[in-house]
Amino acid sequence: MSISGVGMTSQRARARMLERLKEQGIKDPIVLAAMNAVPRHPFLEESIQQRAYDDIPLPIGQGQTISSPFTVARSCELAFRGQTLERVLEIGGGCGYQAAVLSKLAKEVLSLERIAKLVGRARLTLRELRINNVLMKNVDGTFGYQAAAPFDAIIVAAVMPYIPDELKRQLKPGGRLVAPVGGGDSQRLVMVEAEVEGGYKERELEAVKFVPLLSGVS
Ligand code: SAH
Repeated sequence: MSISGVGMTSQRARARMLERLKEQGIKDPIVLAAMNAVPRHPFLEESIQQRAYDDIPLPIGQGQTISSPFTVARSCELAFRGQTLERVLEIGGGCGYQAAVLSKLAKEVLSLERIAKLVGRARLTLRELRINNVLMKNVDGTFGYQAAAPFDAIIVAAVMPYIPDELKRQLKPGGRLVAPVGGGDSQRLVMVEAEVEGGYKERELEAVKFVPLLSGVS
């Protein structure tokens, strides 16, 4: 497929993706605009670019997947509260797509990814798209990134057995953390809100399916 061919296809496919996200219940106009602003196909190998806008997870190499558009939009909508966020942490940066969407909702995005090859590729794609407010680091993000805390939002893109207290403590008061919790076929999306008065409010949401959070870098 020629570059212009992908371009035309992607415009139409992205418009259809937006319609589908609305049907699936994504309402926030700023989140929808962010999903519309970021092309998805540049984050994928050429051989699967024509499927980039389908609502499915797709392989990104190293046994990992890019989350489906709905999954990305849903966690962004839960974390976003109407105003531009100052600083967001993503754990499980993968190909960089979700970080790119977050870059439209926040001033600064720190994205942690344990697989060096994915970090290298994601950095190149982000640079090609002229996205300059995402910093990707090749580290194990299980316990967040204390040196850059606190964050307005923390989004976890790999399933954790439980949410570590260290991670909750990296939220600003009023900040939100969205993470899949559980394992295997029994996973739920959980949202933790750091209350302004202190303490945390936790809500269990829908069943989800994410790749596992692993420890160490590779
Ligand atoms: N948000 C990504 C989704 C990638 S899938 C995207 O838009 O493409 C989840 C990613 O989490 C995988 O790339 C995996 O390597 C990474 N991951 C798993 N455990 C991790 C850990 N402890 N620290 C950082 N990244 C981790």
